[in-house]
Amino acid sequence: MKPASFIYHRPTSLDEILGLLDEHGDEAKVLAGGQSLVAAMNFRLARPSMLIDANNIPELSGISVDGNHLVIGALTRHATFHKPVVNNPVGDLLSRVVQSIAHYPIRQRGTFGGSLCHADPASEWCLTSIVLDAEMLIESKAGKRRVSAKEFFKGTFTTAVKSNELLTQIRLPLGSPAFRGGFYEFSRRKGDFALAMSLVALELDGSRIRSARIGLGGVADKPIRLSSIEAGLIGQRADASTFEAVAAEASNLITPTSDIHGTSEYRKDLIKPVLVRALTEAAA
Ligand SMILES: Cc1cc2nc3c(=O)[nH]c(=O)nc-3n(C[C@H](O)[C@H](O)[C@H](O)COP(=O)(O)OP(=O)(O)OC[C@H]3O[C@@H](n4cnc5c(N)ncnc54)[C@H](O)[C@@H]3O)c2cc1C
Repeated sequence: MKPASFIYHRPTSLDEILGLLDEHGDEAKVLAGGQSLVAAMNFRLARPSMLIDANNIPELSGISVDGNHLVIGALTRHATFHKPVVNNPVGDLLSRVVQSIAHYPIRQRGTFGGSLCHADPASEWCLTSIVLDAEMLIESKAGKRRVSAKEFFKGTFTTAVKSNELLTQIRLPLGSPAFRGGFYEFSRRKGDFALAMSLVALELDGSRIRSARIGLGGVADKPIRLSSIEAGLIGQRADASTFEAVAAEASNLITPTSDIHGTSEYRKDLIKPVLVRALTEAAA
C-alpha cells in the first residue's frame, strides 16, 4: 500500500523544526530514518497529515565526547556505530550491539534517536540506553529538558517526548576503566527483532564484581533493568556458577510478554541463555 496523503516540510534549522512542531505537532510526525515510520504509514497504521523531515539539519547528527560522556546526535545513523566511535569499551560494545539491528541497508538510514522515539520493546538502542544510564535532551519552542532513560520509556511505542518536542541528543556515560560490556540476543533470523536479549555492564576488581548493571529487552513492554539482582551481585565471583544463578533468578522473577513470535513460557526459558552469554562476554 501507499501512505495516505500528507504535507511534507524539510526545515533547515533547529529553530524552524521546533516552530513547525509547535504549530502542527498534534497532526505531524518527525521523519528521521523513516525505517519504522514509513512502513507504518504504508500499512496505514500511522496517518500523519504532515511529515517534518529532520534530515537537513546538520547539528542533529554526529558523535562527540564531552568529559566522560559520549554525545550522540539524535539523527546519527545506526551504521555510524559499525566501527567503534570512541576508543573505549563503550565504543566497542556499541559496535557489537549495532550488528544485531536489522539489516545493512536499514542501518544506513535508521537513526539512534529514531529508534529511541519509536520505542520498540525489542530495540537494541533502547536497551543500551537503559543499561548505560543514558540521558536524553528533548527540545521544544518552550526550551530544553533532560530526561533519564528510566523516565524516557513509558511502554510499547510510547516515550516522554511530547508531540511538540524533538529528541535532539543522547548522552551516554563512558564508564570507568574497569567497565566491561556484554551483549547477546536471540532472534529467529539474523536481522529480525530479538525474542529476548540481554545487555550487561560490569566493573570487576580482579575476579570479583564491583558493580553490575543488567538489562533485558524483548520480554516486556519496554527494556528492563534487574536492579534487585544487580545489588546482590556486588562482591560475588564473576564466574559461571554466579551467572547461572543470576539467570535462574531472573527467569523466575519475570513473566515475559507473549506474542505471535513466542509465548511467555518460551521467553522465560530464553532469558537464561541470553543472560549467561552476555555476562560471560562481559567477564571474559
Ligand atoms: C525489516 C526491519 C527490521 C528491523 N529490525 C530492527 C531491529 O532488529 N532492532 C531495532 O532496534 N530496530 C529494527 N528496525 C527498526 C529500525 O531500527 C528503525 O531505524 C528505527 O526503529 C526507527 O528509526 P528511524 O530513524 O528510521 O525513525 P523513523 O522511522 O523516521 O521514526 C520513528 C518514530 O520516531 C519519531 N521520531 C524519530 N526521530 C525523532 C526525534 N528526533 N524526535 C522526536 N520524534 C522522532 C517519528 O516521528 C516516528 O514516530 C527494523 C526495521 C525494519 C524495516
